Amino acid sequence: MAGLADLRCGAETRKGTPCESKALSNGRCRNHGGLSTGPRTAAGLERMRLAVKARRAAESTTAATP
Ligand SMILES: [Zn+2]
Repeated sequence: MAGLADLRCGAETRKGTPCESKALSNGRCRNHGGLSTGPRTAAGLERMRLAVKARRAAESTTAATP
């Protein structure tokens, strides 16, 4: 059972443990992007989409080397 008050951020902290801070409306605490509204414009969405794509491509090329 998880009420609104029970929501925790859960982001991985620098210690490697899940963040225990109370999550905001988007599921993250204020330290982990909870205050960010994310990309709101078409240009912003496209920019993020390309960044994710580039990151995936970079990860796939480095995945073969341990
Ligand atoms: Zn957090």
